[in-house]
Amino acid sequence: MTPREVLALIRSKEAQTVDLRFMDFPGVWQHFAIPADRLTEETFEEGIGFDGSSVAGWRQINEADLLVVPQPETALIDPFAARPTLMMICNIQDPLTKQDYTRDPRNIARKALGHLRSTGVADQARIATEIEFFIFDDVRFDQHGHQAFHLVDSIEGDWNTGRDERPNLGSKPRSPLGYFPCPPTDTLADLRAEMVGILAECGVRVTAHFHEAATGGQCEIDLDWADLVQAADQVMLARYVIRSVARRHGKTATFMPKPLFGDNGSGLHTHLAMRKEGESILPGHGYAGLSDTALYMIGGILKHANALCAFANPTTNSYKRLVPGFEAPTRIGYSRRNREAIVRVPIHSFSPHAQSIEYRAPDAAANPYLLFSALVMAALDGVQTKSAPGEPYDRDLYDLDPQINDRQPTLPLTLKDSLEALQRDQEFLLRGDVFTPDVLDTWIWYKRTHESEAVRVRPHPYEFVLYYDV
Ligand code: GLU
Ligand code: MG
Ligand code: MG
Repeated sequence: MTPREVLALIRSKEAQTVDLRFMDFPGVWQHFAIPADRLTEETFEEGIGFDGSSVAGWRQINEADLLVVPQPETALIDPFAARPTLMMICNIQDPLTKQDYTRDPRNIARKALGHLRSTGVADQARIATEIEFFIFDDVRFDQHGHQAFHLVDSIEGDWNTGRDERPNLGSKPRSPLGYFPCPPTDTLADLRAEMVGILAECGVRVTAHFHEAATGGQCEIDLDWADLVQAADQVMLARYVIRSVARRHGKTATFMPKPLFGDNGSGLHTHLAMRKEGESILPGHGYAGLSDTALYMIGGILKHANALCAFANPTTNSYKRLVPGFEAPTRIGYSRRNREAIVRVPIHSFSPHAQSIEYRAPDAAANPYLLFSALVMAALDGVQTKSAPGEPYDRDLYDLDPQINDRQPTLPLTLKDSLEALQRDQEFLLRGDVFTPDVLDTWIWYKRTHESEAVRVRPHPYEFVLYYDV
């Protein structure tokens, strides 16, 4: 869509409001609105000023002003606004220099794509995602987390609804068998169909949706292939649609990676493919029908696996998901089938056109712009340094002799460990000015002070179980 077409759409839909959206640094969609008659063709060039100082991880108070520059190709009618509203995703610029703002995650993703092209390795990075999330009837906690017990207790009391349902008519998913009995056990099929229908109206193609393995309403919606920046835009739009449809039905959706102890967590498995002149560079004659280039891409992901976790698993809660026994990966390796390995080459993708490298570490809380950018940079580094991925892990890693198993490298155990890994291993991200030193320092500082340390110094609910009567 061009600026002129956006203005025509506003007129034809009689939209009174233009809602401007952008990604904050940690990964939450922000927005503000203007009356539709304030939007002109010039706005698409000049942008609109706003105060960036209160957006997490952005400007200091003394240099707060930033510009949002709406991107016409992202325009759509907001499916949830009560009055006709056109929404657009924006890039962020510095008003003085008119340069793209270096801490804007979308800008980082655009630069990652530009850098990939400049190397000649590929001209397209294609991404498909599997979005997992939980739907709950209600959630209770105070800011100290003391009420978190209620969430778990309520699920134990009535697996499916968390409510005291009378009469109890059964048909409750038993963990890990949520994947995937039909209704009435799957009570969320209609809700997901509504989400997927709205996504289709917004131009987002979904390949499948289903109940996932966990109890308590774990769902999955899989998005079709899209180019790097657009794929990240679509993940944000999908989160918005999922949350809003849940809310419309008096429910709540969460992308928290591990809301329930003892049950599966929520991943954001990310499939990566690259194309050059319209052809995938993945097919070849090596392992799982992959080319040498594809195997080097995997090599790069494995080589930088620890640092990548700082973006793929960016919360303290992320590491409660990365434990054995819940279909989440724990080992740095690759395999055709083994779900404990962080990289998988799915069988369904063996046909050359559909071939993909599935990176399974990411969780549902990841900032998709930063995640996809870091993933592409790691894969690219693998190709440029010809990093062989080593032997595949094709056996169930739990079946391995414990001594061999102990030798398999594991993922970091905490956010603190991942941030330290990123501190040590960041040269591959700095190439082409994609992630600047300021971006990485700010990310590490923000995540350490606001999350890792903030959680470390607070009493944990389970400490009351362990220590209250000590
Ligand atoms: N929910 C699992 C995870 O945490 C993934 C299940 C699956 O293989 O789709 O990654
Ligand atoms: Mg899944
Ligand atoms: Mg998967």
